[in-house]
Amino acid sequence: MIFLKRIEAVGFKSFAEHTVLNYDFAMTGVVGPNGSGKSNITDAIMWALGEQSSKSLRGNSMEDIVFSGSADRGSQNMAEVTLVFDNSKRAFSSLDYNEVAITRKYFKNTKESEFFINGSKVRLKDVQNIALETGLTKSSLAIISQGSISNFVESSPEQRRRLFDEAAGVATYKKRKEEAIRKLLHTQDNLARVNDIINEIERKLPSLKRQSKKAQEYKEKFDELKEIEVSVLVQDIELYSKRSIELNDQKNEIKLKIDSQKMIVDEKNLELSKLNSENSSKDKESLKLNDDFRKVVEKISKLQVLKMNLEMNKQNSEINDKESVVKNLITKSKEIEIKLNTEKTKIEKLVEEKAQNENNLKSALSEKSMITNELNSILKILAKTENQIEELNQKKLSNEGLFEGVRNILDNKKVLPGIIGQVQELIHVDKDYEVSISSILTSGLQNIVVNNAENVKVAIKFLKDNRAGHATFLPLDILRANQIPNDIRFAVQNLNGFVGFANEVIKIEKKYQIILDYLVGTYILVEDYDSAIETAKMIKYKYNIVTLDGQRILPHGAIVGGSRKKRTSFINDNSKLEELESKKIDLEKKELELKEKASDVDSKINVLREVINEHNISTGSARQTLQQLNEEKYKIHDEYRIITGKELDGNDENYKSIDKQIIEVIEKISYNETEKEKVQQQINILNSLKEKSNSRQNELFTQIQEESKMLNALRENYSQINSDYSLIIERKATSIERLSKDYNLTFESALSLKQNIIDNEDEIKERINKLRSDIRLLGNVNLESIVEYETEQSRFDDLLTQSNDIKDSISNLNEAIKDMDSQMIIQFKQIIKDVNASLPETFARLFGGGTASIVYTNPDDVLDSGIDIKIAPPGKKISNLHLLSGGEKSLVALSVLFSILKVKPIPLVILDEVEAPLDVANVERFAKYIKTFTDNTQFMIVTHRIGTMENCDILFGVTMQQKGITKLVQIKLVEAKKLSNSN
Ligand code: ATP
Repeated sequence: MIFLKRIEAVGFKSFAEHTVLNYDFAMTGVVGPNGSGKSNITDAIMWALGEQSSKSLRGNSMEDIVFSGSADRGSQNMAEVTLVFDNSKRAFSSLDYNEVAITRKYFKNTKESEFFINGSKVRLKDVQNIALETGLTKSSLAIISQGSISNFVESSPEQRRRLFDEAAGVATYKKRKEEAIRKLLHTQDNLARVNDIINEIERKLPSLKRQSKKAQEYKEKFDELKEIEVSVLVQDIELYSKRSIELNDQKNEIKLKIDSQKMIVDEKNLELSKLNSENSSKDKESLKLNDDFRKVVEKISKLQVLKMNLEMNKQNSEINDKESVVKNLITKSKEIEIKLNTEKTKIEKLVEEKAQNENNLKSALSEKSMITNELNSILKILAKTENQIEELNQKKLSNEGLFEGVRNILDNKKVLPGIIGQVQELIHVDKDYEVSISSILTSGLQNIVVNNAENVKVAIKFLKDNRAGHATFLPLDILRANQIPNDIRFAVQNLNGFVGFANEVIKIEKKYQIILDYLVGTYILVEDYDSAIETAKMIKYKYNIVTLDGQRILPHGAIVGGSRKKRTSFINDNSKLEELESKKIDLEKKELELKEKASDVDSKINVLREVINEHNISTGSARQTLQQLNEEKYKIHDEYRIITGKELDGNDENYKSIDKQIIEVIEKISYNETEKEKVQQQINILNSLKEKSNSRQNELFTQIQEESKMLNALRENYSQINSDYSLIIERKATSIERLSKDYNLTFESALSLKQNIIDNEDEIKERINKLRSDIRLLGNVNLESIVEYETEQSRFDDLLTQSNDIKDSISNLNEAIKDMDSQMIIQFKQIIKDVNASLPETFARLFGGGTASIVYTNPDDVLDSGIDIKIAPPGKKISNLHLLSGGEKSLVALSVLFSILKVKPIPLVILDEVEAPLDVANVERFAKYIKTFTDNTQFMIVTHRIGTMENCDILFGVTMQQKGITKLVQIKLVEAKKLSNSN
């Protein structure tokens, strides 16, 4: 049989060149002088099959198997051996190929081996396993050296046993058993380790369980308390909000009432004080008029005394009664005539003055109506302006129009540390720059300024915990300015159309300047588009440029422009508010002016009306006087006609001769009478005005008292509502603060947690108190113990399962080992039995008679028992094997070998000078006997013996034609003999 078909080697030991040895026959002889490389062939086979021990390969290290160089040839770096086997009978039972090529390569530089089966890279273990399948291992029967033959007899029964293990196929089991035991030990270690951990956890678990139970209890109570308290707080806050809105509405309503009431009181006070001051001037005027009046009256009475004296003197000088009566009549007539003229002139004047005053009244009334109209429209505008101011303030207060996150942060500013406010609250932008700044500071306006990054962390956590939106924060401690370098700033300032740098144009408190430097530090303001383009070119499109109308050039050249929808940005709101406030002030000023003007016109109208009235009275009385005078005149004329028989007229001589002196006095009296009347008239006007004014004063006084009382009541009401309002706001803030402080919740997030559990307030209070006292009683609680306990318990359970699994696998392994043991015993017993059956015959063949047997040294322990050999060579009685000759020892060993081969054929056996100690006859017998096994076994026999050579099917000569380099050639017997003799 041919099993090993070919060996190819290169770089292995002395096989410097690529060497091929083809096995075409079942029995191959290898001959050659000492040191030529014969044993290197065996080494090559062992090495290729995975031998790891360099000693077994007769070297110190694995590097020694690589060709180390000769006198003519340098060393090599790699050794490679390939063995090609015939596997048609599936000697490699696990490989389903008819031919199996096993290759091993070794690289000196990496000190690594590579293995291949039929060209595919495999592991060392794979090669070792298939070598085991065929029994081709170093300690096996397959490779037998002269040494191992002589050792066989001399070795201990235990060492000897290995040969039978091999034959029984127990070696594989043993290897598997060793592996199983190793695994078992490892598994037992694992089990011990797992059990240690289990014990440790088991010790910890009860205390953890207690802690966790307590923590769980705490958590349940805390959660319930939280649920109730949050619901109560939310309900309170809702209530407070509602109430605060109501109170605020009431406040506003009362405020309006107070304002208008105050206006009423103020107006009345103003009127009163005006009346007071007018009265005092009237009093002065009245004094003066009375004085004038007194003087005129005095003057008149003096004149009348004078007139009387003149008239008496005249009467005394006239003798004729008739003449004196006539003269008297003429004087009286003259006097009446004078009076009539005076009255007529007076009436004319009065009529004229009345017309004049009526005209004045008319224009005063129209002036008053104009003032009233103007005042009404001013009041309308004022009311509208106040409304707008109120709306904007309300918007500002309610943080309306802010991003959700920003609003939530600002609403909770009180409980969050370090929040300074929004950017838009901190800056001021002049009206001229509003459009351009609005176009660059968009959402940045709502950035929140915070004193440091640590507090930003708190704020962000707050938003996250409450899912309350997000916001951009500017922490003052880490903010860094965005800057335009100084040289560029300088150059830009000198360009046409430069307006300013945004971080300087916007105004902010000095301590917050970094915010503007950060947000708009690289923005340049210019007048218009053309300046923007010019500036952008100059700065090489590196920074932001914005025009006064909000067009922008971004770094790298993008241009943003067009028309913007009017944004309701805070910048606009702020300036709008300022605008409205100043408009309000102007309007109020104007209102006051108009009211004063109206009151002046009113006084004027009153006076005019009084004057006209007085004129009417005066005209009436003058007309009456005129009539009386005319009647008197007709009476005198009648009397004169009766006495003189003539008509009295101005051309009459008598008439002409009247006493000029008396006439003069009469004229003076008449003049002064007119004057007196005039003064009287003025006094009357003044008195009437004063009277009216007094009654108005009284009226005002009472009214002011009443209205002030009302105002005070309103104020009291307001202050009561206001204090209620403050209290509610305070309570609301406290409740919100508690939500945030105790439960880290915003109102919005708490709202979603609110339960409708508050039916009975007393019950709820009682429950809260109970929960609080329960929680207090629980004392210190380790909340983490809940998770810790769960983790440890589940770890404990896992480990228990693991421990059980390990135990299962230990018992499986033990079972497997037991199975292997019993299988090994069966197989081992069988081989011993079989060998014992064939040994006597083999022994007799090789010894030429006698008999032998093998026995257990310890039959009770078949697995570990040594194996002894009992022999009885022909005609000898042997009790001690050591006493045998060298040749006999070899024959014994060979008998056993062949017996084994008989019962358990091996596909390849290498015999290395095993027959050396035998004599010629025995060599002959040995060689012939081998031949009987060649049907089932391939032999490679390294030999120096002619007898053996003669029986081989083919001979290979191993030479070193080139020093240090082995060469293999097929040779004939003659050459073989020569080669052997060359030793
Ligand atoms: P003997 O008949 O005396 O047993 P042999 O023919 O079996 O001799 P080997 O033992 O096979 O000879 O070969 C030994 C030879 O191989 C020696 O000459 C040794 O120098 C050579 N040799 C061993 N290892 C190397 C190596 N790594 N490089 C070169 N030559 C080596």
